[in-house]
Formats: sequence, structure tokens, C-alpha cells
Amino acid sequence: MLIGVPTERAPNELRVALVPESVGRLIKAGAQVTVERGAGLRAGYTDAAYEKAGASLGDAAAALGADLVCKVQKPTGDEVARMRRGSHLVSLLQPATSKEAIAALDAQGVTAFALELVPRITRAQSMDVLSSQATVAGYKAVLIGSSAMVKFLPMLTTAAGTIAPSKVCVLGAGVAGLMAIATARRLGAVVSGFDIRAAAAEQIKSLGATVVAESLISADSQTAGGYAKEQSAEQQAAIQDALKAHLAGMDLVITTAAVPGKAAPRLISTATIRTMAPGSVIVDLAAETGGNCEPTQAGETVDVDGVRIIGPVNLAATMPNHASAMLSRNILTFVQHLLTKEGTLNVDRADEITGAMVVTGRTAA
Ligand code: NAD
Repeated sequence: MLIGVPTERAPNELRVALVPESVGRLIKAGAQVTVERGAGLRAGYTDAAYEKAGASLGDAAAALGADLVCKVQKPTGDEVARMRRGSHLVSLLQPATSKEAIAALDAQGVTAFALELVPRITRAQSMDVLSSQATVAGYKAVLIGSSAMVKFLPMLTTAAGTIAPSKVCVLGAGVAGLMAIATARRLGAVVSGFDIRAAAAEQIKSLGATVVAESLISADSQTAGGYAKEQSAEQQAAIQDALKAHLAGMDLVITTAAVPGKAAPRLISTATIRTMAPGSVIVDLAAETGGNCEPTQAGETVDVDGVRIIGPVNLAATMPNHASAMLSRNILTFVQHLLTKEGTLNVDRADEITGAMVVTGRTAA
């Protein structure tokens, strides 16, 4: 079986789907791998490293013409047209908003797997791109926020006086939020956090941060699967009220709250932002799904009375070396899950993981 790794062509997408280490493992498992020349370069993986791992180098046509194409971003129409009937694709596909792209893959006879649809179960944890890329986003959010701030994060005792540590609050303590808390703590800030799930509150504390508005956490806030439930309008209003006074004193706020399949919950109003000190910063990681803050604009920085609200998009791509290494390990584990002893792909739609991730339906496996 030939696996192809094309260069990503989406604007600002610097990651590569497979890094040389994963390529080596797939070759050991009996596959052949062709990498488009330069595909890993912007993430720091050279053509020579791929060759050393056993891959052959080719052009885009060779990579897209493989039996299994591994990509980061969903393919363009042109890329789909260059894929072979009966081939397979593993990629981020934004399945909820990509009906046309998925229909094009179906029409082309490609069996496609959306990495976003990995089930959040223990068995699939090592394939979970949402977690691995959220880890990068949470880390980067603190760095972006701290760079935009007008203050140090840590306490400093210097000949020029003592500097008090900055106060950071993280709203939503899933994978990204917990990483943001840990990063802000490592940089010396005084950190607090909030989530509606009881398990998340425990995790906030275990990282050495305090929990805000703990009285709002109830067993009823999460589904049997451990995910946050969408809050009613009254519950949302109660959360906003409970956070308001605390947020007024923050130097940096990172928001990451999300409910699977829903618009981002609104946690901070413009009125609350007006109570924060000029020079303080909010980084809204939920910008792409509507934002946790009223004024957030995806991909932009908005200024409200001197408070900057940054709405970054695709943060994982801004740290492409390690983001690719983690993404590649996720893809490798999924491909290993599909691989048979004979080196072919077994698309078992009855399997809990494969069945959840396959988004095309009319192609024979
Ligand atoms: P996410 O990105 O979907 O959401 C971020 C956080 O926002 C969550 O912690 C959620 O509780 C919180 N949130 C939602 N609404 C909120 C509100 N109104 N106010 C404040 N916070 C709010 O979360 P995630 O990081 O993808 O993980 C969430 C769940 O998935 C957890 O139970 C986690 O343990 C589980 N998980 C399981 C696996 C696995 O087993 N493979 C992998 C990753 C995560």
C-alpha cells in the first residue's frame, strides 16, 4: 500500500500530516510512503529526514495519487480531483460545514475519515487530534496574551522595586484550558479557573490554581460521557454575573469554553470588559465558534476601552513542529488501527472508532 503526504496549501497552514518518525514506523509495518518535496519544510522536517526514514520524494500528483492520502486540512476541489477512485483520505475535514467537499470525495470514490470525529474514549485517546492540537492552542494562548500585556507575569524583586505577579483567569478547563493554566503557572502568574464540570474544577486545583464561582458547578452540568451540557439562558446569565467581579481584577483572561456541536457559550459581556483595567488582555480560543466574549472577532484583535480581545484562529499551525509531531502520532495510530496484517486497509464500519470517523458512504472498503 502506498501512503501519500502532500504539501498543505491552505493559507497559514504550516503543519504536515506525517513526520519522518511516523513515516519510518509505517514503512516498518510494510507500507510505502511518498512525500511531496518540501511538504515538511515549514514545520522543520527536511526532505532528507523523510528519505532517511525510507520515504520516496515526489510531486503533488504522486502524493495525491496514493492508496491512502494523509493530510492536515481538507482537500481542495483540485486535490480531490487528483485522488484515485478506491483510495482513502485521513484528514481534518470540518465535517459539520463541509457537505460539498465530502460529496466531492464520495463522487470521486474516495473513502474519507474526518480526524475531528475521533470518539473521546480511552481506546482512541492516542488518535485524538482535538486533544493534541488543543494542547498547543492552550499553551500558545498564554504566550500570545502575555506578549500583548503591559505587565510581567511573574513576581519580580529587583533593585528597581518589587513587581507584583499578574493575575490570570482561564474560563473553560478542558484540554486547552488546563494547558493554559499550567503554562501561566509556569510563567509565575497567580492563576484562577472556572468550568461547569466538577471533574474540571478538581483538575484546576490539582494544577495549583484556584476555582472561581465553584457554587455554580453541579453534577447536572455534564452528560453521562463527561462533556459539558449546554446551559440555559438563566444559567448563562448566572455564570456571567458570578464571574463579573472577579474578571474586573484580571490582567489576562483566556477563554476556552465549548460545548460539542454548539455555538460557544457567552461568558463575558462587553459591559464586564469595560470594568477591566486598560492594558489587560483577553485571548478567546472559542473565536472560531462565535466566541466566549461578546466583542470577539475571529482572526482579529478588538479594543474595548483599552482592553484588547484577541480572537486567534488555527493556533496549532503557529507551532508547526511539535503540533505536526503530535498530529502525526494521532494519524499513525489511526492508520495502524485500520491496517491489516496483509498491509491493506480494513474499513470496518461496525467498529466504534472507524465507524465514527468515516464520512463517505458509497465506496467499497
Ligand atoms: P472542549 O474543548 O469541548 O470544551 C472546553 C471546556 O469548556 C470543557 O471543559 C467544558 O466543560 C467547558 N465549558 C462548556 N461550557 C461552559 C460554560 N458555560 N462555562 C464554563 N465552561 C464551560 O473540551 P475538551 O478539552 O475537548 O474535553 C472535554 C471532555 O472530554 C472532558 O470530559 C475530557 O475528559 C473529555 N476528553 C476525553 C478524551 C478521551 O477519552 N479520548 C480526550 C479528551 C477529552
